[in-house]
Amino acid sequence: HDGKGIFKVYSPEMGNKMRRYHYLLEELRLAVARKDFYLNFQPIVHVEDCMIDYFEALTRWNHSIEGMISPVEFIPIAEESNLILELGDWIMLEACRQMAAWHNAGLRKVRISVNVSGVQLKHRSIYDWVMATLTKTGLSPNSLMLEVTESTLIKADSLIIKELEKLRKEGITIAIDDFGTGFSSLSTLADLPIDVIKIDRSFITQANKSKKYLDILKTICELGQKLGLKIVAEGVEEPAQFELVKRIGVSSVQGYLVSRPESSVNVGNKLLNKNVSNMSG
Ligand code: C2E
Ligand code: CA
Ligand code: CA
Ligand code: CA
Repeated sequence: HDGKGIFKVYSPEMGNKMRRYHYLLEELRLAVARKDFYLNFQPIVHVEDCMIDYFEALTRWNHSIEGMISPVEFIPIAEESNLILELGDWIMLEACRQMAAWHNAGLRKVRISVNVSGVQLKHRSIYDWVMATLTKTGLSPNSLMLEVTESTLIKADSLIIKELEKLRKEGITIAIDDFGTGFSSLSTLADLPIDVIKIDRSFITQANKSKKYLDILKTICELGQKLGLKIVAEGVEEPAQFELVKRIGVSSVQGYLVSRPESSVNVGNKLLNKNVSNMSG
């Protein structure tokens, strides 16, 4: 009873969830201070020839007792606690530094894609921060894509939109991530400062099974193409899904069919030794 005439129900399960949350929050604080993370890289390839266009940087946390903790669990905690600001600085710096190193080692034309959380957009000028990181690492703006989720973009105020526009003018690519999950109307696509639509995995999973999802997917592709946007299908796991998205006009795909996210060492060995960027071969 909370004293205002309202009763709340607690279950042991809620208690466990709260305990885990506070435990992870404290562990995350320590991990961020120690930079106890690493990045994995997953290729995004052109549908026509499977040549790599981007690597998406995906953050990994290997906890000494818990083992691997999924970003699906720790990123929201980092966002609610603002730890994402410090962690996000490290992620952006590390991602740009790694891609610059691959370029210097002879891997050309492959770009890096970095997830940016809404909290990072709100707390300071994303333009100044990203440009400073590029200067520091020597990476060219043309080699960087920023992924901002649909739900973040539809909530973004005009100041944030202006910052993203400025970044696009510098040659940085902006992608709307997890598209289809944020309930924006299709017409907002025309007004957002974006170059790329990343269609959420749930649509790719459903499209082969449900005519409704397939029709939505087709409509998104048609509209995207008319607006001059590139379309990426995420979570492509099966050849049939690859064929389907290729047929309806998706430009690039990402998913286990092509490659799982891999460590920088594996990526470096595979790509630089062969000196190619074709993941299908
Ligand atoms: P996301 O941005 O949608 O990233 C794609 C997720 O889908 C990754 O999971 C990736 O491993 C997974 N995935 C890729 N291909 C397939 C596939 O074919 N099948 C299936 N089932 N899954 C696939 P991951 O690495 O666990 O990341 C989950 C989410 O955590 C990301 O979703 C993103 O929202 C967040 N995240 C990860 N790293 C960062 C980061 O550095 N910053 C921020 N802000 N968020 C991050
Ligand atoms: Ca992403
Ligand atoms: Ca995504
Ligand atoms: Ca997703």
